[in-house]
Amino acid sequence: VQAATDDGAPTLGSAGERAALQRIFPRLPAAEHALLGPGDDAAIVAAPDGRVVISTDLLVHGPDFRRAWSSPYDLGWKAAATNLADIAAMGAVPTALVVALAAPASTPLADLEALADGLREGCAALAPGVGVVGGDLSASPTLTVAVTVFGDLEEREAVLRSGGRPGDVLAIAGSLGRAAAGLALLFERAVDEHGEPDARRMPALRSKHAALVEAQLAPRPAIAAGRLAALAGATAMLDVSDGLLLDAGRIAEASGVRIDLDAGALAAEAAALAEEAPTLADRALALVLGGGEDHGLLAAFPPGAVPHGYRVLGRLVDGAGVTVGGRDSGAVVPGWDSFEAWDGRTG
Ligand SMILES: [Mg+2]
Repeated sequence: VQAATDDGAPTLGSAGERAALQRIFPRLPAAEHALLGPGDDAAIVAAPDGRVVISTDLLVHGPDFRRAWSSPYDLGWKAAATNLADIAAMGAVPTALVVALAAPASTPLADLEALADGLREGCAALAPGVGVVGGDLSASPTLTVAVTVFGDLEEREAVLRSGGRPGDVLAIAGSLGRAAAGLALLFERAVDEHGEPDARRMPALRSKHAALVEAQLAPRPAIAAGRLAALAGATAMLDVSDGLLLDAGRIAEASGVRIDLDAGALAAEAAALAEEAPTLADRALALVLGGGEDHGLLAAFPPGAVPHGYRVLGRLVDGAGVTVGGRDSGAVVPGWDSFEAWDGRTG
C-alpha cells in the first residue's frame, strides 16, 4: 500500500479505491437522461429515440497528454470534450458518459477530485444535462482516462461522412488551428533543456497565452452545432481531430467527391490565428490546414442551407481528394513541409 504524500495528504494508494470513489462521486455531473445513476452494478439511461449512438475515446499519459502540461482538471475537461464532439459529429445530442480511470497509487485524491471537477464543468459548459452515469477506478503506473459516450438522434437520421454531394457547401463550426498553435507554444516554451515537458514553465506560458494553451489542453468544441447541422440538412459531417486537410479528405473519400477549399477563406482563418499568435504567424496557414484537436464540426450542406455559427470554407465538386482553389493542397501552403516535420514530434 502506497503511503500518503509527503505532506500527509491521502493518495489513491493510501486511501484505497473505494474511499477514492466516495470522494469522486459527489463531484461528477448528474445525467438528465439517467434512470439509474452510479451505485448499482450498472446504470440505466433513457434512449428516447430507440437507437443509441455510442463512441469511446482513450487518453493515455505519454501519447495523448503530458502531466507536466495538463492539470487533472484539464484532463477531465478534455476527456469530456473529445467524446462529446464525436456524438455531435453524428448530428446527435450526447446524453451520458461512462468513465474508467487508471491512476498511479501515488496520485493525490485531490487530483482525482480535480479531474472529476473538469469532467463536470466541461459537460456543464459544452453539453448541459450530460452526466457521468458510471465507471471504474483502478491503480496503474500509467494515468489513463477512458470515456464512453452515449447519444440520442431525436428521431433524425444520423449525419454520416458519406452523404456529401457535388454542389454542397463545406463549412466549419468552431476553431481551426488554435489547439495546434497551443501545442506549438507548449513545445517551444514549456520544455526543459532536453526538450521534455516542464511544468515549471507552465505558469508563465499560461499567463501570457491563456486562450491558445487552453485550446490545446481544455478545448471547447461547438457541441450544440452538431444538432443544428442535422436540423439544417447537413449531408456529411465529422469533427476535426487530425487536421482540416486530413479530415476533409475523409469526407471526400467517403462521399466520393473532391473538396475544393477556398483560398480566401483559408487566408482569413490564418490571419485570425496569426493575430492571436504573432510568433506563429509564418506557420498560421499550415496550422489551420494541418492542426488537429480543436474538434470543430466540419459539415457539408446543400447550397443556401449553412446554419448560423458555421463559416464557409469551400465546396464539394466532382472528383477525388482535397484541393485549394483548384490546385494541389501541398503546393499552395508555404511552411507545410516544416509543419509536418514539427507535427511528428507530438507523437
Ligand atoms: Mg470524430
